Amino acid sequence: MRKLLLFTFSFFVSIVAFSQVNGTEPCGQRELMDQLENQYPGFKKQMDIDYLKTVHPKVSIEPRRVKITDTIYYYDTIYTIPVVFHVLYNVAAENIHDSLLQNQIEVLNRDFRRNNADSVNTRAIFKPRAGDVRIQFELAKIDPTGKATTGIVRKPTSVASWGTNGGINNNMKYSNTNGDDNWNPLKYLNIWVCDLTFKNQDGLLGFAYPPYGHPSWGSTSWVGGPDQGVVLHYKVVGRNNPLANTTLLASANKGRVAVHEVGHFFGLRHIWADDQYSFNKCNVDDYIDDTPLQGIGSNFDCNKNLNSCIEPTNDMPDMVENYMDYSTHECQNLFTKHQAITMRNAITDFRKDLPIKTEIIVKSRIYDTLVYNEVLIYPVAAQSKLVIELRNQDLLDNLSVEIYNMIGQPVLENQTIVKNFTELSTMRFPPATYIVVLRNPEGKVVRNKKVVIDRVD
Ligand SMILES: [Zn+2]
Repeated sequence: MRKLLLFTFSFFVSIVAFSQVNGTEPCGQRELMDQLENQYPGFKKQMDIDYLKTVHPKVSIEPRRVKITDTIYYYDTIYTIPVVFHVLYNVAAENIHDSLLQNQIEVLNRDFRRNNADSVNTRAIFKPRAGDVRIQFELAKIDPTGKATTGIVRKPTSVASWGTNGGINNNMKYSNTNGDDNWNPLKYLNIWVCDLTFKNQDGLLGFAYPPYGHPSWGSTSWVGGPDQGVVLHYKVVGRNNPLANTTLLASANKGRVAVHEVGHFFGLRHIWADDQYSFNKCNVDDYIDDTPLQGIGSNFDCNKNLNSCIEPTNDMPDMVENYMDYSTHECQNLFTKHQAITMRNAITDFRKDLPIKTEIIVKSRIYDTLVYNEVLIYPVAAQSKLVIELRNQDLLDNLSVEIYNMIGQPVLENQTIVKNFTELSTMRFPPATYIVVLRNPEGKVVRNKKVVIDRVD
């Protein structure tokens, strides 16, 4: 009910804001303006911008100095994915305990929701880029025949090890090669847990295939049907697995092999784009805008001085904190916002048959309106645009805007807005009601507003 009241109020405010703006349009000279616009296309727009830049600061409403707090509501959609573990064991040690598998689910949930305690270690330059993926995992409760299940299948096997001397072996995914058949990969995230050693060496810790047809990957990486899913070496499942007791494995003992592989499962590439052997290793990107250009992967270390590619503007060091690097688990603590969008799009575009529980959550937060009280957000239907005016001169720079539809799906994410006046095209938005969210550079929501986007044809 409270939510409804707020909506009604916001809607009212947006109508008021709209007519205010119409009222501030220079009037009485319309014909002259139109004539000048004909002569100098863009004249009116420029004049509006100049007007806001020059006139508003002088006549601006006194910034409100009384601290006012208000409650805002923030909408979000969480996807929950059912997981089945297939544990294959030749010796007892490979039949790892339930607690490690349950802990693996917890680690996935913490890292994908950015609830990991070590998120505080993200360097300040990367903090604004780190994001909550809003994907969660749970052990499947119903098996493919409709029976109740723990989501854990255990199966003895005659195969001592599934590792190979190079190349990938998918035999663990089939009963007729002494593995365990998948559960319909359209309906479950299958994770096989088995011994991936080759000649007693822990060379391979896990692997996964991206969604079939994913645009960030070449067609040679596309693997459909039964092989879809994730494979994990049994010694690196869960956090602090007691079997992760060599130097190499100790660097991978926080359950983040699964986090990395599930990233691949949802279409992410390594952040250096696997082009370390090419002539110009800075040529190929990972198709993610907010990871810095990176030429090589980390070498199972945490070298924060690495800067393998110099970017022409805003050069940044390699993002060794990223789960899609080859840094130590101790070092890793983030997915970026664009990686989050890519993974969420993989669900809606490629893995939409997963019986994903979609949960819309409504968070309320108290915020201080002291400096954000003069933000105007209003649609201009005739021009298919949305305008954001920051009239208050005390406002911070580098605010960003996001737009959500009414079921909580982002339709525009993380767009930097220009101080004073920003116009966003709404051409591609179906006419509907949307929530516009402004965030400060630390990612905190400072303002949200319900707007109705319409189109005048
Ligand atoms: Zn990988």
